[in-house]
Amino acid sequence: MPEFVDRSPPGECIFCRIVRGELPAAKVHEDALTLAFMDIGQVTPGHVLVASKRHAATLLDLTREEAGAVMQTAQRMAQAQQAAFAPDGITLLQANGAAGGQTVAHFHLHVVARHTGDGVSFAWPRQ
Ligand code: C5P
Repeated sequence: MPEFVDRSPPGECIFCRIVRGELPAAKVHEDALTLAFMDIGQVTPGHVLVASKRHAATLLDLTREEAGAVMQTAQRMAQAQQAAFAPDGITLLQANGAAGGQTVAHFHLHVVARHTGDGVSFAWPRQ
């Protein structure tokens, strides 16, 4: 089971600091409720995280409005990946809690472009 890598207090976690511009990130989309940025550990080229701008630890902590906004941003990211990489498929991943495979305790959804035979394994919990 993965360990949480960031147990900072709400508002001081890695992704809150990225939202505020205090830590660097390659941001690709921002609106009132969500921020999308490139994952520093690219599983495949174009691997994007869609995070809530407000600190919310997990899916259970999002408002309905935030949950809807996250999926709308994810669709935009998937459309951008489709245009940029012509993938054979796209995988969405979203982990909640250490037991669910989450390592950063600020809600985020992975959007990963896939090609047939890319060898990517999404066995969870990740090793
Ligand atoms: O689903 P999980 O919580 O494990 O995902 C956390 C993700 O945050 C990882 O894929 C990691 O590469 C990414 N990350 C990042 N920028 C940071 C810290 C972590 O993109 N500064």
